[in-house]
Amino acid sequence: MTTIHNLGFPRIGARRELKFALEAYWRGESSRDELKALGAALRQRHWSEQQGLDLVPVGDFSFYDQVLDMSFTLGHLPERVQGFHGEALDNYFRVARGRSATGTGDHPGCCGGVAAGEMTKWFDTNYHYIVPEFTAGTTFKLDATRLLEQLSEARAQGVRSKPVIIGPVTYLALGKAKDGSNKLDLLPRLLPVYAELLDTLAAQGVEWVQVDEPILVTELDADWQHAFNAAYHHLKAAKAKLLLATYFGDLAENKYLAANLPVAGLHVDAVNGREDVQQLLGLLPAHKVLSLGVINGRNIWKTDLAAVLDWVEPLAERLGERLWIAPSCSLLHVPVDLAQEGKLDAEIKSWLAYALQKLEELRVLGRALREGREAVKAQLAANAAALASRRASPRVNNPAVQAATATIDFRMGERRSAYGVRAARQARLLKLPAYPTTTIGSFPQTADIRRARSEFKAGRLDAALYRAAMRAEIERSVREQEALGLDVLVHGEAERNDMVEYFGEQLAGYALSQFGWVQSYGSRCVKPPILFGDISRPRAMTVEWITYAQSLTSKPMKGMLTGPVTMLNWSFVRDDQPRPVSCRQLALAIREEVLDLERAGVRVIQIDEAALREGLPLRKSQWKAYLHWAVECFRIAANGVADDTQIHTHMCYSEFNDIMASIADMDADVITIETSRSDMELLDAFENFRYPNGIGPGVYDIHSPNIPTQDHIVQLMRKAAGRIPAGRLWVNPDCGLKTRQWSEVIAALTHMVAAARTLRQAP
Ligand code: GLN
Ligand code: ZN
Repeated sequence: MTTIHNLGFPRIGARRELKFALEAYWRGESSRDELKALGAALRQRHWSEQQGLDLVPVGDFSFYDQVLDMSFTLGHLPERVQGFHGEALDNYFRVARGRSATGTGDHPGCCGGVAAGEMTKWFDTNYHYIVPEFTAGTTFKLDATRLLEQLSEARAQGVRSKPVIIGPVTYLALGKAKDGSNKLDLLPRLLPVYAELLDTLAAQGVEWVQVDEPILVTELDADWQHAFNAAYHHLKAAKAKLLLATYFGDLAENKYLAANLPVAGLHVDAVNGREDVQQLLGLLPAHKVLSLGVINGRNIWKTDLAAVLDWVEPLAERLGERLWIAPSCSLLHVPVDLAQEGKLDAEIKSWLAYALQKLEELRVLGRALREGREAVKAQLAANAAALASRRASPRVNNPAVQAATATIDFRMGERRSAYGVRAARQARLLKLPAYPTTTIGSFPQTADIRRARSEFKAGRLDAALYRAAMRAEIERSVREQEALGLDVLVHGEAERNDMVEYFGEQLAGYALSQFGWVQSYGSRCVKPPILFGDISRPRAMTVEWITYAQSLTSKPMKGMLTGPVTMLNWSFVRDDQPRPVSCRQLALAIREEVLDLERAGVRVIQIDEAALREGLPLRKSQWKAYLHWAVECFRIAANGVADDTQIHTHMCYSEFNDIMASIADMDADVITIETSRSDMELLDAFENFRYPNGIGPGVYDIHSPNIPTQDHIVQLMRKAAGRIPAGRLWVNPDCGLKTRQWSEVIAALTHMVAAARTLRQAP
């Protein structure tokens, strides 16, 4: 009989209860006991929602981050908090948050998010974890308190528990050696702690432990492959059975390694890595369990249950008890409950499945495998009907868009003249001084703005009044920029709640959810818009706002758009066509907007690609293909304009070394990037590559409330000028200012403009 199980459940709560409880606790508005009680209540609810599964994850709940939880379990705390003798939970938050968050953004590294322990992306998801910090002297000491407590809660509730931990090799791979030492040297010290943990769990009667080793879907060099063998041979003696869980991609060349590790079972992502399975069947020793992740844990579409059964039934026949099925990965990456979506279009809703619906799919599959399809005939028929409706829907399929995408010509992505010619023409037209100053787009999203928007959405403020309120904000930001003496102005993005959602609301082929929240880090969540159909732009999206802003000033006003690659990477995307196809459709829609802005007399247009680098595949061998279509899409969106129109792009990060050729290929007239925290050293990549176009290296960190001094900015720009010819430099902050206060913005930009003036006089 096939075992059905889950790898992890979203912990934030269907109504983001955990988020609100955490933030109330951090503000000092609730007690630690209240927070702990809420955590316990969520766990209890989530376990009961997983009833009917043969094995249910325990230990997947976290008050902040599962990697940080593992660090605490391993007794591995950063030195700076070791010696702290307060409550364990407070110490935990100190590591997680250190300096308190100042922003309202939800993508760290952009849009204002901030955290103390270094954070980085969890594989290729939009979840961010706290990076373990290692040195040659790092030691480990088991603290199983959290796991044991949750285990006993689960027991009391009658849950068929399968504790979940991060495996030792992935744990080391996720961390960072602060002193340049070799992390793998720590493995011999780490393994005894893991062995002790597994024995401790086994002593509680645990049969299976899920050990997550997603690093197995990435390219591993010989040392790391060896580490896998060493680790699992060491843990072979442990009393619990190990289910080694891999996800987010195929095992590819690591198949042999993974199949032969001495563990009792292997979980693979059969959504992203189905090709592996056939070969794995041959490789897997006869006693091992094979768990297939057949339901996509990363996306929100219904599973094609009949197709899964067609594929899995013969495997079940062959493997019998040894076949398990599950979602592809933890459901952490999908929202909780579709049933809450009262406002979502009914037809689109019928195509979707959030975490609870995915678990229901799993139950149906389990029953079909045990009792035959007949037993779940009605469910299978409903599933097939939903899928057929999606496939045939005219809202998904737009022949005009498909035709336009099919005939895209690479020349659409080519500017008419080379950068040098364009730059000269633009300089004449825009009459900009040396070291021109600008900002990245957004100005403070004040409480007034947010209030107006929520009143408008709730129907308490009519469209005309809302529009008037936003216009007043735009006027205010134009006045402030003129007073500051900035050279290229922006309208301030008052009317946008979020740089992706704003466009998702206006493009056909997109739907917005109300409760489609997914954890980004800590208490922060994102609500990716749902790209469900062929993308088109029914009408201009930004022209009215920008031309209004331009009408208020004689300075050039920068049009402000989100690029196709960022739209794609921050949305739930279609699974019925390849990502590049969706991206090309987005590119065409944004291209129309760019050309409309140009026709309306907008001379400078910025197209943000904050998430371009984020989209890089896990395997380096696939980078080239991704960059190829991503850059092509940007070029299609941006480069249809005349030489006179100046295209800017913005990326709020700075590791460009390995993608420099692609960045140059985008051929934006100006790229603004984040550099202030690196003391301009990150411009080295641009210098070494001899990057040919304009660059605005950010001169101050917008995540921090600190006001940069004029001197400091001058120093930074002089450093920049040592690397990039001054004639191509712009002066701007690291990113948008929406999370700051106006008082901070004015103080900082005053210094920035004064610094630019100093540079013009005394470069
Ligand atoms: N134009 C956007 C802003 O200023 C850019 C945000 C981002 O790069 N994440 O807010
Ligand atoms: Zn940015």
